Amino acid sequence: MRGARGQVMPKAHILYIEDNPDNRILVSRVLQAEGYTVTLANDGPSGLVAARQRRPDLVLMDINLPEVDGYAMTELFRATPGLNVIPIVALTANVMKGDRERSLAAGCSGYIQKPIDVDALPYQIADYLARTPSA
Ligand code: MN
Repeated sequence: MRGARGQVMPKAHILYIEDNPDNRILVSRVLQAEGYTVTLANDGPSGLVAARQRRPDLVLMDINLPEVDGYAMTELFRATPGLNVIPIVALTANVMKGDRERSLAAGCSGYIQKPIDVDALPYQIADYLARTPSA
């Protein structure tokens, strides 16, 4: 990405909260190859700490997390000053009807279904970032 004067613009910073190590490796490789900065957290509470410290531009939130699930974590982000404006995209293998609605009700901007399509993921992420008004 290049700015008005041709300088290379830094790409967005994405926080990925995911308990499955294979998915963490896969998604971080795909996003880093696209030039994104990626921070990983393997559970919700440590994701919240990382978000407070690093203020990512977008959070990719696995829904099936141990202890505190992605819906509850999204509600926590939405209730936390400073983190409440960061877009959250749910990532879930749940295919039950109503999951999309439940993600949106918890405060997610949208939903990406697992298994992750590595070819589509960069476009999906860019699309969610483009919808977010920059501060
Ligand atoms: Mn999981």
